[in-house]
Amino acid sequence: MLIPHDTRIALDTVVDLVNTAPESEPPRDDPADGLPDVAALYAFAERHHISGVGALGVRDLSAVRDVRARFAEVFAAPDPRTAADLVNRLVAAAGTTPQLTDHDGYDWHVHYFAPDASIADHLAADCGMALAFIIVAGEQERLRRCEAPDCGHAFVDLSRNRSRRYCSSRTCGNRLHVAAYRARRKEAAG
Ligand SMILES: [Zn+2]
Ligand SMILES: [Zn+2]
Repeated sequence: MLIPHDTRIALDTVVDLVNTAPESEPPRDDPADGLPDVAALYAFAERHHISGVGALGVRDLSAVRDVRARFAEVFAAPDPRTAADLVNRLVAAAGTTPQLTDHDGYDWHVHYFAPDASIADHLAADCGMALAFIIVAGEQERLRRCEAPDCGHAFVDLSRNRSRRYCSSRTCGNRLHVAAYRARRKEAAG
């Protein structure tokens, strides 16, 4: 699947956003929210180069958390129609204004957020359209949750054969491999 550069960036952003939610880490060993305050929201915006967000306040924080909850539902959607409905509502509420741009040395691409959009609307519009791109490509099932029992992180499976089961092969995948290996050895020994 060929994914445009800016779509890939927006997908990275939405995955990171969803994974700041404490709900995405059952059984809540660490219930701390990844976006506990406005400072964390600034850090998030900087980490993902979200431009033109201006001064952020507590209203932005709660609006972004609301959008985050909507995105979490998209990753939990059982089928493309459910995901499409969720994305449609998100994007409509954000008021998109598609604009071609080639800022900062990037090739031509489309920004969907309105010029004066709040950070919540910015995220809803651009990340929502990135998810729309995946659904249009018939790839909704690539929007996944990690299968490791105590993880549940959202991720986008961009593997060729859609075989990825864990948010990270280095952490969750490896952890489970080690556990399975130990279980096999124990069985063989017992
Ligand atoms: Zn851009
Ligand atoms: Zn995981």
